[in-house]
Amino acid sequence: MAIDLTDRYFATELMRGGMARWKLDRDAWPLRAIVLHHAAGWYGPPLGADASRREEEQRIRSLARDHHARFGIGPGYHYVAFPSGRLYAVGKAGTHRAHTKGRNPKTGVRWNIEAIGVCALGDYERTGRDEPTPGLREAIEEAVEEIRGFRFTLPGAPVFGHGMTPTVNTSGDPLPQATSCPGRRLIPLLAELNRPAAPDVNGELAAIRAAAEAIERKLQAA
Ligand SMILES: [Zn+2]
Repeated sequence: MAIDLTDRYFATELMRGGMARWKLDRDAWPLRAIVLHHAAGWYGPPLGADASRREEEQRIRSLARDHHARFGIGPGYHYVAFPSGRLYAVGKAGTHRAHTKGRNPKTGVRWNIEAIGVCALGDYERTGRDEPTPGLREAIEEAVEEIRGFRFTLPGAPVFGHGMTPTVNTSGDPLPQATSCPGRRLIPLLAELNRPAAPDVNGELAAIRAAAEAIERKLQAA
């Protein structure tokens, strides 16, 4: 379970134009995708696997202030994952935010409405910078599992790396995201996150067993 800070960040001073402006009815706007980001170290020195919860919450506060100033909402993401393995929910799923420009080519609706933004704290692109820790991977996996479990998430919602998110502009023309986010060290994780779940064959096995038992009974009765 993510550490839930969504009430802290559901606040007028971090939502330009007021809280109502950012709220969404998820029955009308279901979740269709998850977009993975990284925060390439603009908010202070890298935090390692041994960082404290206090340091991480401080980092989220810096990020929130910066995003509010730049995009009108802070943080612009819904979830933030740390190398320690801690995962924080920072934006309510029923709010649209500011993490991915442009629109979903399939619906023409803005990605910030239809997708949940998950951010890995650290720089996973530049040489000599952070390597994803096992904790970070687990925290990202946890976020994806939690999001896919929402009743308003469409089945099989994919996880896109920010820079690879298929996107169009208002006219429907392709719009490149033009970013290396979430970094080449996180890209391999996407294949795992998008691997289809193993089919559930328990029901079929039970039916086969029942049929076998029925045959057995007939043979004994004969
Ligand atoms: Zn990004």
